[in-house]
Amino acid sequence: MIPFLDLKKINEPYETAFQDKLKLVLNNGWYILGKEVETFEKAFAEYCNAQYCIGVGNGFDALVLIFKGYIALGKLKKGDEVIVPANTYIASILAIMQADLIPILVEPILETYNINPDLIQEKITSKTKAILAVHLYGQLAEMEKITEIAIQNNLLIIEDSAQSHGAENNLQSKIYNLKSAVAYSFYPGKNLGALGDGGAITTNDPALAKVLFSLRNYGSQKKYYNEFIGVNSRLDEIQAAFLNVKLPNLNTDNDKRRTVAKRYLSEIKNDKIILPLWDFSNNHVFHLFVVRTSNRQDLQEYLAKNNIQGMIHYPVPPHKQKAFSSETLGWDDLSFPITEKIHNEVLSLPMSPVLTEEEVGFVIEILNRY
Ligand SMILES: *Cc1c(COP(=O)(O)O)cnc(C)c1O
Repeated sequence: MIPFLDLKKINEPYETAFQDKLKLVLNNGWYILGKEVETFEKAFAEYCNAQYCIGVGNGFDALVLIFKGYIALGKLKKGDEVIVPANTYIASILAIMQADLIPILVEPILETYNINPDLIQEKITSKTKAILAVHLYGQLAEMEKITEIAIQNNLLIIEDSAQSHGAENNLQSKIYNLKSAVAYSFYPGKNLGALGDGGAITTNDPALAKVLFSLRNYGSQKKYYNEFIGVNSRLDEIQAAFLNVKLPNLNTDNDKRRTVAKRYLSEIKNDKIILPLWDFSNNHVFHLFVVRTSNRQDLQEYLAKNNIQGMIHYPVPPHKQKAFSSETLGWDDLSFPITEKIHNEVLSLPMSPVLTEEEVGFVIEILNRY
């Protein structure tokens, strides 16, 4: 059986190091916002070429807190509109709503699955104040174009990098140094995964960083003095300790993912299977390797029969979710044909740094025989 993602196998090599870290935390006797969180924040900021990193409870909170941070700074206010891809994991959209802002959905490019920058301008109104770019499946959205639109319309840029750790820590981040804030998730299945929930925000904006360090901890930096209306969303000390063990291997892991992807891209040859478009100029980190096919159920069942697990990311587009239907937002009537097509056709192939060459070869062979 070739699982879609073997988390146990991914974490196995770290077992001794994890146990040592756990002992260390127990010896320190300090469990919230201690040395491990501080060490991780420094290391991850450096890794991302960012000046500041703020550890938080999870990726969703990272997004919500960025918005709340801008609200606290007076750069956003209740009811402002935020441009977001229609084709994303629902968390991106829910985070905008959680901060009392209005999500405005924009169609993706079919071949890359990411937001189509050419469709953003027509959605901008006097209420539009920010763009939430999502780097879906590990591939950067077209940030140069997005940045240009943001500058022209005086919009903030926020990035959902929950699926793209390491995609940006190259030259590109310097091109749009104007970048305001980036949200990361360390959910176990992400490219950098904890053994539980975790998240972080990176930014080069000192004013925003200051607010965020406070917002995640009840709006307080000095104990029992509360400057902002904050929440409790702190990166856990033990999860930070585990992340400190894994971070040094992130680039190697991403390289391994790219190696698998390169083989899939060059060796899968089947007219019934449409491969994802990877513009080699970007540093795709292949959180997922997502193909399209007209009869997805058939392909998924065929793979299962051959002991290969394919998963669907995601089966229902956000605007078609029951949560947003007539009783709440009335999104039933919204139509995003490209987003809907993607959700009907996508299938994620096994992808991880621990797939063996034989396993990858087997997946390719089975797909080519389909
Ligand atoms: C995983 C994910 C999130 C949320 O992260 P959590 O840590 O699960 O809260 C947000 N956006 C995207 C695109 C994600 O994939």
